[in-house]
Amino acid sequence: MSILVVGSVAFDSIRTPHGNVDRCLGGAATHFALAASFFTQVRVIGVVGEDFTSENEAVFHARNIDTQGIERAAGNSFHWTGEYRENLNEAQTLSTDLNVFESFQPKIPEAYRDSEFLFLANIDPVLQQRVHKQMPNVKMVCGDTMNYWITGHGENLAHVLRDLDALLINDGEAKLLAQEPNLVRAAERIMEMGPKTLIVKHGEYGSTAFFGEKSFATPVKNQFFRAPAMPLAEIIDPTGAGDSFAGGFFGYLASQPAVTPAVFKRAMFYGGVMGSFAVERFGTERVQQLTREEIDQRFARFRELSHLDGN
Ligand code: AMP
Repeated sequence: MSILVVGSVAFDSIRTPHGNVDRCLGGAATHFALAASFFTQVRVIGVVGEDFTSENEAVFHARNIDTQGIERAAGNSFHWTGEYRENLNEAQTLSTDLNVFESFQPKIPEAYRDSEFLFLANIDPVLQQRVHKQMPNVKMVCGDTMNYWITGHGENLAHVLRDLDALLINDGEAKLLAQEPNLVRAAERIMEMGPKTLIVKHGEYGSTAFFGEKSFATPVKNQFFRAPAMPLAEIIDPTGAGDSFAGGFFGYLASQPAVTPAVFKRAMFYGGVMGSFAVERFGTERVQQLTREEIDQRFARFRELSHLDGN
């Protein structure tokens, strides 16, 4: 099973209460691909500039991620500058330089055409839609977005939302998108926009899935499902946690023979596991060094921390 992901491949300059880094490898597609690569084959569509080095590309290859869909263009790569203050669940964007993404025309390499799963990671909704249009026969398509695209590119985003099996989005962005401060009502409103299932990420507090009538894996009788996050004593850098969650979630789903309610719930746990690793170091550092064994151990801890014994 293969996942095709389109999204930002970027350099990030990040400041957190633990320090700062300048131009480390980042981007939504990067964090997603690294996390998903522990579960399934991942192929990336994106664009980078002349500042993207062979060492940067080697990070993908070390995880066996296919990069033939990452185009090289004249100019600089996407560059995001962000800061986290006391609230580590919310990034303050200081600057977004789209650079080579501004004129990007995504093309799907022939070898990617048989991908069964499509993830539209955070990037201009116009690009998300162009990729989706070129992959009409995928089994399942999920997507992500953020305030930058919700506030400035709402109409284009509406087209993307119409055809999603699931939207994964963080708490604040869900409320912003729905223009509704109550999460349950916000979820209903968002599902009216198209996504059959909505997964809301609550940062260090876990995630909630909301199931619509056409949802692909509604757990019996439940309208919602909530998965935990790992209480961590030290969060070094939250950047990429959301994309790593998405990578763990979708990577696990894609690795399974069928998406049953039980598989869906496990996928939410794997999402939480991958997000919890991502925040332990700056940028992609922690996930780059991760082993499957560590993932399995933390998954077992996630089970324990949310399990209720007896009647
Ligand atoms: P998250 O997983 O939500 O923390 O996303 C972090 C990643 O999103 C960073 O590595 C950034 O490079 C990337 N990013 C920030 N702003 C945007 C944007 N407007 N479009 C696409 N990607 C972005």
